[in-house]
Amino acid sequence: MVTNQKCSKCGRKATINLSYDKRNYCDSCFLKMIEKRVRKDIRTSNKIEPRGSVKLLNDDSKEFFLTKQLLKNIFGKHLTIKEVKKASKETLIPTNLDREVKEKLEIYLENKKEKPSRKKILHNVLEEEIIEMCRIKKIKIGKKEKKNSLIESIEKPYPGTKFALAKSLKKIFP
Ligand SMILES: [Zn+2]
Repeated sequence: MVTNQKCSKCGRKATINLSYDKRNYCDSCFLKMIEKRVRKDIRTSNKIEPRGSVKLLNDDSKEFFLTKQLLKNIFGKHLTIKEVKKASKETLIPTNLDREVKEKLEIYLENKKEKPSRKKILHNVLEEEIIEMCRIKKIKIGKKEKKNSLIESIEKPYPGTKFALAKSLKKIFP
């Protein structure tokens, strides 16, 4: 944890020290940074129609509860969120970057035929970041992601590898 360090953005006391980032953040600057990333993804991907409704998979995960809060913050009354227990083609599926990289890499390396093309959200946010957000927003964390030992062993000496992998895999599975 961070001690006596200052937020790189606003200079207040830092509370968050991410594994891949030398900068430190306070809760509020950290939330803003991740929300900006999620907003940008929503804006550029057309997966949610503003003033419409969205089917959101409720799998009782931290990713689901966090997504629900984020969508409410971003769209307010302009989006109706319908929680569903079973995913169909148009269902928005909460996930995290660790899971996406792991799944896509396995599909790629094992030459599987399936295509990971369902609508996802939080696919560009590390589980580590999601856990920090849940702590700030007081969302229960519950089950943690099963890590892939190969990816973790590269990430450790080369922090940021997961983001780079996600970017490369996006070209293979757009
Ligand atoms: Zn700050």
